Amino acid sequence: MDKRTFLKVGSLAGAGIVATPLVSSLLGCGSAPSSGEAPHAAPSEGFTLPELGFALEALEPAVDRMTMRIHHGKHHAGYVRKLNAALTNHALSGQSLEAVLASIQASDTGLRNNGGGHFNHALFWNILTPSPNPQDHVPSGILAERITANFGSQEAMLTELAQAASTRFGSGWGWLVQDTHQPDRLFVASTPNQDNPLMTGIVDAEIQGRPILGIDVWEHAYYLNYQNRRTDYVAAILDRVNWSAVAGLMA
Ligand code: MN
Repeated sequence: MDKRTFLKVGSLAGAGIVATPLVSSLLGCGSAPSSGEAPHAAPSEGFTLPELGFALEALEPAVDRMTMRIHHGKHHAGYVRKLNAALTNHALSGQSLEAVLASIQASDTGLRNNGGGHFNHALFWNILTPSPNPQDHVPSGILAERITANFGSQEAMLTELAQAASTRFGSGWGWLVQDTHQPDRLFVASTPNQDNPLMTGIVDAEIQGRPILGIDVWEHAYYLNYQNRRTDYVAAILDRVNWSAVAGLMA
């Protein structure tokens, strides 16, 4: 995915969510970008399933081919389909996905579950890499500086993130989040189901922010290969993180 295709979502700047090129770059928001130009920020033809940037088997042995096929082709595709259905004749129809996520209320379960599902999975595929370049394999630059400043060390951050993901009860996500109001501040969080830190109408204030790394800990993400060994799966995922991609999601 090319950064030049990232969406600008200026309408969110006032909401304090995002003011810079956005996480949902690869969300397949609305109609396809025309002739390489920046895509329209207000989709009118619904959201689309983004293609993976790698082959289904490319993450093996960390994630097996069958899991990837079902996870992307069935689960993620289902979120996209149900999101579009939920937006039909909805007041938030036509908004960017980030705007939708920032606006929905807890009772709007269709948008909450499927809007979150689409966003979270698009982010997840984006921050994984089958064969990391050496420079991508560990955080560097300002991301590394921020991690050290906030957690003490990269190892401490990874330990906290793995713990948050591994211990999330039931289905959900572990996150590395950038504070929207204090960009130098990074923190770890977890959310249930398909909630995420962009859902300012739903998640607690202290975990609201800009997600830059997400780990899917739904059983559909790992059960074929790992069964109950979620901790092993989380460790394998953390070994496949493309830290350059994570850095690129920071504001
Ligand atoms: Mn999933």
